[in-house]
Amino acid sequence: MTLIEPAAALGTDPRIRDGRLVPELIRAEFPILGTLNAHGRPLVYLDSASSSQKPLAVIEAMDTYYREYNANVHRGIYEIGERSTAAYEAARRSVARFINAPDHHEVVFTRNATEAINLVAYSWGRRNIAAGDVIVLTEMEHHANLVPWQLLVQEKDGDLEFIPITDDGVLRLDVFEVLLRLKPKLVAFTHVSNTLGTINPVAEMTRMAHAAGALVLVDGAQAVPHVPVDVQAIEADFYVFSGHKMLAPTGSGALWARRELLEAMPPFLAGGEMIREVHLRRSDWNDIPWKFEAGTPDIAAEIDLGVAADYLRALRMGRVREHERELLEYALPALAVAHPELSLYGPMDPAIRGGVIPFNIPGIHPHDVAQVLDRSGIAVRAGHHCTMPLHERLDLAATARASFNVYSTRADVDALIAGIAEVKRVFGV
Ligand code: PMP
Repeated sequence: MTLIEPAAALGTDPRIRDGRLVPELIRAEFPILGTLNAHGRPLVYLDSASSSQKPLAVIEAMDTYYREYNANVHRGIYEIGERSTAAYEAARRSVARFINAPDHHEVVFTRNATEAINLVAYSWGRRNIAAGDVIVLTEMEHHANLVPWQLLVQEKDGDLEFIPITDDGVLRLDVFEVLLRLKPKLVAFTHVSNTLGTINPVAEMTRMAHAAGALVLVDGAQAVPHVPVDVQAIEADFYVFSGHKMLAPTGSGALWARRELLEAMPPFLAGGEMIREVHLRRSDWNDIPWKFEAGTPDIAAEIDLGVAADYLRALRMGRVREHERELLEYALPALAVAHPELSLYGPMDPAIRGGVIPFNIPGIHPHDVAQVLDRSGIAVRAGHHCTMPLHERLDLAATARASFNVYSTRADVDALIAGIAEVKRVFGV
């Protein structure tokens, strides 16, 4: 894992040639991508927006943890307990470096982005949102950044407002400007859309929100695996993400928030670890971030989140973004030329779009599309992608969605194009 970094820094990393990633070499580090399906077809994994595959470094770090130093953290006064605590806290520093957090104590480990958003909604939200208060979201939010706020305003008698999108999936900042006149307490939006791939201008939106006196939560679940993220440059107040989309195991994730916010917030979950002193009728809280980490965490997964962060940092996220942008620039016109009847959604400008391609083949339900593609070994997602209001806004029941990650290649795109031809043949369209 960390062995990779010096090679990358010295320019001797074979996975980087002329400042660009060599996808075939990166791909070789993901064992699952070398497997065959039941029909003997190689896996063409185009569902990374759902969850990413894991490199050997991540898989082996998990194995090493359980083989060599499995023990609870912050408890055992014995060698492997101290080793697991040190690795767990080192992972926190790796994650902080990955998002350029000024202080690793501002990184709270959570199980995923959903838990991190709920943490903010329960802890900060229930203390700071009152009757009549407004929270501004967008029409493109994942349910994870919508439903927790619905629950909060229902309980507090507050209101939700939504930044609308254009027909090609770009946020209407002119309307956002108008909504800010309502003096919202919080503005929460996704950095990158999981359904359309839109990369939102998060730093600009944060500046606008702050100028109106609102705090800002950015849902970075689809950003951290694909674009450089610098929480200090964005200047958001809360930034959340899941590990499993950024090459780390399920059960890992993080909330980053400014220290003074975390210090003022009451605990979310209560129990062991988050306390300093417990009496029968009252308790004192631990320092941040442990105040928000009640109970035994998913130690192996969070250690491995640090490994994944180091892996991506060694490749440089700017290069990862460039690789995926080039792939998108290849894929969008290639799909349109090979299958002109295909409906493609989202912004067509790769400069403001991540590697996410939602599509429909007229006359064929996306579930059927995904099922026939699966026979060819091609994994795409079909459905509403946990963005039902966005699908409603675009007047779509469902879409099929292909999505990239650092290990995706042009061969994957070519396989998808051939797979769609097979779908059309099967359904006779
Ligand atoms: N936000 C966005 C933009 C997402 O794409 C996802 C996952 N699809 C989530 C939040 C929720 O992530 P998780 O299920 O890992 O909590």
